[in-house]
Amino acid sequence: MKTKPINGKFELIALPYAEDALAPVISAETIRFHHGKHLQAYVNNLNAALAGSPLEGLPLEEVVVKSEGGMRNNAGQTLNHNLYFLQFSPTPAKTAPTGELAAAIDRTFGSFENFMTEFVQKGVTLFGSGWVWLAADNDGNLQITQESNAGNPIQHGLHPLLTFDVWEHAYYLDYQNRRADQLKDLGKLLDWSVIEARYTDALQ
Ligand code: MN
Repeated sequence: MKTKPINGKFELIALPYAEDALAPVISAETIRFHHGKHLQAYVNNLNAALAGSPLEGLPLEEVVVKSEGGMRNNAGQTLNHNLYFLQFSPTPAKTAPTGELAAAIDRTFGSFENFMTEFVQKGVTLFGSGWVWLAADNDGNLQITQESNAGNPIQHGLHPLLTFDVWEHAYYLDYQNRRADQLKDLGKLLDWSVIEARYTDALQ
């Protein structure tokens, strides 16, 4: 599913939950800063950079792959945060994967539990600011990738399915330096119906 601009502009995504719904793992204060300030700034900077450029009007995913420099950073951060915020729910429709995605996770990581442990560990060991991803190739094979700064596996021809933001702004107000604790707790807020839909889309 590609994210198309509306009248040439990308918009701040609306959250499908109240700003205090994910507390205490993600507090209302963090949502106000992370979604309302950080993400809004990335969207504004992206729109400003795109105005009059050859990439204006393209879907966000194509801008991420084709842009460079500051535009690339702001496009990446916009896409990354959209995927991040929309995968959470205070009342997930699915608290674990089922079907084809569950089978692929078992095949690749041994079990869902092993996958979550490895995913959190890859987030903990990512040095500095960045994102840890579960991504699929065109055949549905899974891998975990670590991306620095605004990186997204879409740049390597992969389909992003699930991500944890390990920039300090994502967790510092609620967990201070305890990144590992927040990543473990984030697992409880994942709605696997959203992640499964991304996997189905990746296999189209
Ligand atoms: Mn962030």
